[in-house]
Amino acid sequence: MGMLSGKISLVTGGGRGIGRAIALALAEAGSDVGVNYLQHAAPAEEVCDQIRALGRRARAYKANIANDDENHEMVRRIQEDLGVVQVLVNNAGITRDKTFVKMTYEIWKEVLDVDLTGPAMVTHALLPGMIERNWGRVIFMTSVIGQMGNFGQTNYSVAKGGLIALTKSLARETAKKGVTVNAIAPGFIRTDILKDMPPEALQKIVAQTAVGRLGEPDEVAEAVLFLASPKAGYVTGSVINVNGGLYM
Ligand code: NAP
Repeated sequence: MGMLSGKISLVTGGGRGIGRAIALALAEAGSDVGVNYLQHAAPAEEVCDQIRALGRRARAYKANIANDDENHEMVRRIQEDLGVVQVLVNNAGITRDKTFVKMTYEIWKEVLDVDLTGPAMVTHALLPGMIERNWGRVIFMTSVIGQMGNFGQTNYSVAKGGLIALTKSLARETAKKGVTVNAIAPGFIRTDILKDMPPEALQKIVAQTAVGRLGEPDEVAEAVLFLASPKAGYVTGSVINVNGGLYM
């Protein structure tokens, strides 16, 4: 019996990158998993196949988390297919980098909608089910950029900083209802999100990182597993850095 057996989890953006590692780790710990995606159905279905091979239930759900109607439809379907979600990993996120002077209203809003309002609204839709059962885990994927800022990423850093503030306020509202709310702040993790970064810029980051390398998605998934576990009931409102010592 895994520590999450009998639990149902939803991982937004669970088909690729960090989300994929999280979905698989939750399933290995015994959870059934809903895998949300936006554009890439094939990798999401592949993750579901891998989860089913582990003996757990899994379904892929296409939904734009920035669209509240799609969120509610996803929640309705996952509850119908798998049951009430008790572990929510708000992982999906995007970057649209530009210096602030060149940033358009559209790009600003797109990142805020996907990276801040989306996670808040998915949580809003799932929280009543957790409160009703007096047990839940909400995990937000913030970023080191939400803590230290970054050139060309005002939109992203505001969204990710907002998630940290949301984590702390929501943790206070839900603590006595059996629901913990925490955030993970990864540093630079080897996924597609880094593919547009110039190699020199990436090298500079690695040089500033105490461990001297990029992180791997599995290393973020381990922190999620801890926060999701029944043993982490006294951990709420916290931000766990998984950044190789880039920011302390
Ligand atoms: P990634 O490889 O680019 O994957 C992003 C995932 O988000 C994909 O599964 C994508 O779905 C999904 N997604 C994007 N927009 C969506 C939307 N509107 N609705 C639903 N799903 C959406 O990114 P990653 O590196 O794994 O990042 C995962 C999370 O960690 C993000 O929140 C990111 O900000 C955060 N993070 C990453 C790093 C890093 O260095 N990699 C560092 C700090 C924080 P499709 O597969 O359908 O495209």
